[in-house]
Amino acid sequence: MHETSFRTLGLIEPLLSTLIEEGYTSPTPIQEKAIPSLLAGRDLLGVAQTGTGKTAAFALPILQYLSSAPSRPEPRTARVLVVAPTRELAAQIDESFGTYGRRLRFSRTCVFGGVGKNPQIKALSRGVDVLTATPGRLLDLHGEGYVRLDRVETVVLDEADRMLDMGFIHDVRRIVALLPKKRRTLLFSATMPRDIASLAATILDDPVRVDVEPEKPTVDKVEQRILHVRKENKKDLLAHLLRKSDVRRAVVFTRTKHGANRLSAALGAEGISSEAIHANKSQNARIRALDGFKRGEIRVLVATDLAARGIDVDGITHVFNYELPNEPETYVHRIGRTARAGASGSALSFCDAEERPLLRQIERLLGRPVPVEPDHPYVSASAAESPVSPEGRRNVMPSRTMRSRNFRSPSSDRGSDNRKPWKPRQPMR
Ligand code: AMP
Repeated sequence: MHETSFRTLGLIEPLLSTLIEEGYTSPTPIQEKAIPSLLAGRDLLGVAQTGTGKTAAFALPILQYLSSAPSRPEPRTARVLVVAPTRELAAQIDESFGTYGRRLRFSRTCVFGGVGKNPQIKALSRGVDVLTATPGRLLDLHGEGYVRLDRVETVVLDEADRMLDMGFIHDVRRIVALLPKKRRTLLFSATMPRDIASLAATILDDPVRVDVEPEKPTVDKVEQRILHVRKENKKDLLAHLLRKSDVRRAVVFTRTKHGANRLSAALGAEGISSEAIHANKSQNARIRALDGFKRGEIRVLVATDLAARGIDVDGITHVFNYELPNEPETYVHRIGRTARAGASGSALSFCDAEERPLLRQIERLLGRPVPVEPDHPYVSASAAESPVSPEGRRNVMPSRTMRSRNFRSPSSDRGSDNRKPWKPRQPMR
């Protein structure tokens, strides 16, 4: 089967080396579709959400362009302008430029509201190659004469629909009016409301349109189960399940690289051999592990989400979510590893008391509850409250549907580890 690589997309060596170090083994669909057109200098309309790899899809070709046409930016100007709705997103984009472009010479800065202007004014005074900005602060700085936008060669409007929702659309139009007519324009939006479509029609010049559907929950053939278990029992539960003979090829997902290493070692101590793959492992070690997994020499792969992007292996019988992911979409990505090519597969997700809110998000995305597996040796106290509990305890909730059980609030847990309030974690980037 033909597999697209970043090299075949036409990226230069310094970027390719960095991508290898970052653990990006193959381009995501938006990268595959957008990068060649952007390298050819086209305008782009990208209908895609965050999480699809869209930042790299525009940052890589922009960095390549800057390195092929180096020129010193004039004071108080920017060669590339990226406009994003929130300061978190702006900071992330700026950081991504830094990451992907670490082998190239270029300057970058990020400006957003809510913080002092002086450092931003100073950073802009010499001019920058890549300026990432939120609309309000950018217009402020422009109005006060600290930055000019008439030297912008490429502009990226990111999450345009969100800028519309947040009431920034007029600011965006004002910014566009300050840009030179001759420029390259990229517009990304997760959805295409009429206002965005008309903005796109007026500011883009013969754009390539790339639509990337957010991965739909096409997981009908996957038999999904939630296993309620206390955090400290997860390892034993996993070992117990992995010993079953129907687990022929399994991927176990952990949230962190260290978690993957630790778990793989702990399984080893139980006599269950596995390999951990994550971005800290060398490219060779990862390829070796994946090849062994494909050939069936390695039965259990312990992986982080990032490393797992490269896993395109048929015949995975089981996916274990050792920890639930922070982003519900990631759950769908993960369990989609099994039941490929028309086969069926199982996705077993461990859920401790703290992870209940994550489970609810997942169920909201799926539009239905995930059935609970009540029959395993490490059922946590909370799950034992269910009407089908092995210990036959009476349910404290009115026992109606599975739905009511699954949507129960974490406060109904009796586990001791649910006393501290659950705090959302920052998504890993
Ligand atoms: P974005 O949609 O740009 O927010 O990217 C989502 C996440 O995917 C980020 O954490 C990126 O670091 C990661 N990512 C982007 N492209 C790839 C790739 N080709 N392989 C693996 N991870 C990627």
